[in-house]
Amino acid sequence: MKKAIYWFRKNLRIHDNPSLNSAIKENDELLFVYIMDYKIFNPINSDTEKIGKFREKFLIESILNLKKDLNKINIKLMILEGNILEIFDDLKKYSTTVYGTKEVGTYEEREEKILYDNDFNLNLFEDQNLFESKKLPYQVEELPLIFTHFRKKVEKLVVIRDVEKFDPTIQSKNDYLSPFTIQLEYLMIDTNLNSSYPFVGGENNGLNRLKNYLWKSKNIEKYKETRNGLIGTEYSSKFSAYLCLGCISPVMIYQEVKRYEKEIKKNSSTYWLIFELLWREFFRYVYLKAKNKIFLKEGINGNIFSKNFNNDLKLFEKWKRGETGQEFIDANMKELKETGFMSNRGRQNVASYLINNLDLNWVWGASFFEKHLIDYDVTSNWCNWMYIAGVGNNTRNWVFNPERQSELHDKKGIYRSMWLKKKGQLNIDLGLKKY
Ligand SMILES: Cc1cc2nc3c(=O)[nH]c(=O)nc-3n(C[C@H](O)[C@H](O)[C@H](O)COP(=O)(O)OP(=O)(O)OC[C@H]3O[C@@H](n4cnc5c(N)ncnc54)[C@H](O)[C@@H]3O)c2cc1C
Repeated sequence: MKKAIYWFRKNLRIHDNPSLNSAIKENDELLFVYIMDYKIFNPINSDTEKIGKFREKFLIESILNLKKDLNKINIKLMILEGNILEIFDDLKKYSTTVYGTKEVGTYEEREEKILYDNDFNLNLFEDQNLFESKKLPYQVEELPLIFTHFRKKVEKLVVIRDVEKFDPTIQSKNDYLSPFTIQLEYLMIDTNLNSSYPFVGGENNGLNRLKNYLWKSKNIEKYKETRNGLIGTEYSSKFSAYLCLGCISPVMIYQEVKRYEKEIKKNSSTYWLIFELLWREFFRYVYLKAKNKIFLKEGINGNIFSKNFNNDLKLFEKWKRGETGQEFIDANMKELKETGFMSNRGRQNVASYLINNLDLNWVWGASFFEKHLIDYDVTSNWCNWMYIAGVGNNTRNWVFNPERQSELHDKKGIYRSMWLKKKGQLNIDLGLKKY
């Protein structure tokens, strides 16, 4: 009998999961595991907690949702915690063949190396990509610095695969006893009523969100006009946290948008969502080319605008707490603290403020985001920060003027009032839609 371990990583889903399908096809029985490794969550350890509570909550919801769904088809997902080598040393009593998703990131790749170095037969698949690296129309080393060059060639040459159907006909090893097993409990945290990200983690909710944003509300049709919004669930897709944990696949989103374009409407907004998915994809390849340089102050391109990147803890504390005195910046930082989410427009502004107004080290800002963002994604986070710091994939110096930005995007001050809790302005009807 052919037996293997199926290792769920940042692909917490059943549908459109190539590594899972291959493991099922190539084996008679599988042992399903997820490994909770808190150490990787806050490597810089700048704060006492290891991971922000909203990020942790969403992660736990996603794992437990998967466990529940697998359970329905008689598959037991073992949730384990501990040192990766010790865990696999124990699991090897069952099998030394392991299937999983290929991840990007230092800690993620280190885990893979540990298994390779210890003679596990590791089968990794690029489940998290829009397209597999073998389809990249460049050698990774020749990836262009500028996104537009990448995008144009990819749009012309790369065919995105179809969504893969899940075939549940596999025998699951449900009685394996591991000393590393833990009972994962939901984190009970109240959701802030003003949160733009009140969503619950997990594949079912991710798929629902996809259905709602496209087919039900049709909000995708105006995405390009609304995507710089700040308030509510509907100004942008809110797919990010589902994507970063692999609750939904980028291919699933891509193919669903294509179907929408064919059956309902195709316009610049539907295109723009795919355009943004290509940014995500680009940054994954930037990492594969530059590896750990994306975490360094000089980035991948050097400090070409000679920024200061000072280490001033007091100023950094003010930025973190939303106490800089600049209302637009402070409101965004409070939103992050109270919800675990911040809009793209907000992220650009607070990053630019830290770098250009406070002259601080951008690596600190990126680490703070890493800890708190519900949708923290290694490459999207660090490469976007590099971009704004001017040490990444850009030749232009991006400096956002927060006064001008708040005039443009928060003309009536509603967003600032919402998070700075100014007296007399709280009970404004925001017309927020329920998701
Ligand atoms: C400083 C900074 C840090 C960021 N950190 C992260 C992060 O940790 N995780 C993360 O997913 N995104 C990050 N982003 C990108 C972007 O802000 C978020 O993807 C977006 O706000 C999430 O909301 P949404 O899903 O509604 O996005 P939408 O606007 O609806 O976009 C759809 C999807 O496209 C992708 N996308 C959109 N914009 C970008 C972008 N600029 N770069 C890469 N992918 C993009 C995301 O997967 C997103 O879910 C960061 C941006 C900045 C400026």
